[in-house]
Amino acid sequence: MRRRLAHVAILACLIFVFGLEAPGIVRAQTSHRDRATAQIEFNGNRAYQYAQQIVNCGPRWIGSPGHACAENFLKKQFAKDNIEEDTFSTNTPAGVMTMHNFIVKFPGKKDGVIVLASHYETNYPLRDIHYVGANDGAATSALLIEMANYLRGRKLDGDSIWLVFFDGEEAIQEWSDTDSLYGSRHLAAKWDRDGTLKRIQAFLLLDMIGDKDLDIARDQNSTPWLLDLVQKAAKQEGDASYFFATTNVIEDDHLPFVQRGVPSADIIDYDYGPHTFLHPDGYHHTAEDTMDKISAHSLTVVGQTMLETIHLLNQR
Ligand SMILES: [Zn+2]
Repeated sequence: MRRRLAHVAILACLIFVFGLEAPGIVRAQTSHRDRATAQIEFNGNRAYQYAQQIVNCGPRWIGSPGHACAENFLKKQFAKDNIEEDTFSTNTPAGVMTMHNFIVKFPGKKDGVIVLASHYETNYPLRDIHYVGANDGAATSALLIEMANYLRGRKLDGDSIWLVFFDGEEAIQEWSDTDSLYGSRHLAAKWDRDGTLKRIQAFLLLDMIGDKDLDIARDQNSTPWLLDLVQKAAKQEGDASYFFATTNVIEDDHLPFVQRGVPSADIIDYDYGPHTFLHPDGYHHTAEDTMDKISAHSLTVVGQTMLETIHLLNQR
């Protein structure tokens, strides 16, 4: 994923530095909602364990043993579900590569589909620094695995829910329109051709939301009404303080769907770790993106908000 405007992050930094106390206070007041009264419960602890298992595969750049390990792990989790493998070969700056998206389908009563998506691979250019992407790739894939645990065996009266695991989100060499988003560009085009896109009521992309210090910016490339709905869901869960205090412009796996008119939202916390001279983007795309930087609580907050968002989408 790429942030399009560098000054937005600097602005976010300034807000963070000068507004340090305010968000903390708001968070403390709102995070103690009575979860016992909640109708839905997402198990962030178990999601965290799945993230650990994906990270245990090691770096997951395309062609690596860790990438194959992560794919096998995913396939094993969904062995008893309706899982589709979407394999394709594509040109990249490092030659032709074969990539694999995975789609896991939980059928609902209605004809519509709600997609929850993540990418699972790590960056090819970072293959020499033991980069494991605990937050960037592992955490969100783990969240989707836990989402399946919630959905499995449940009667879905509303739309079908499809979990999509994208391959090839990251650039192989340097981010551009053609060197990025390989899996999502492939699947969006395929679903455009076969008519599937018309069924998609909402495309909810998750990226980097395991961050212990969760602050999800409102992405200007996403569909406004869908972000509003996510915000409403977060508010109902008592977790509004984690969402949309700042804005950002993000290029990510939602773009091929946005460009085809699918209502899409990228739920992403780009503000990850301390911003230093050497690492202006904090832990993002560094060997510091490890399990100790993410938390089960953040996974619970986002998982719970996604369940409530699905609930609200079905009420529309
Ligand atoms: Zn990334």
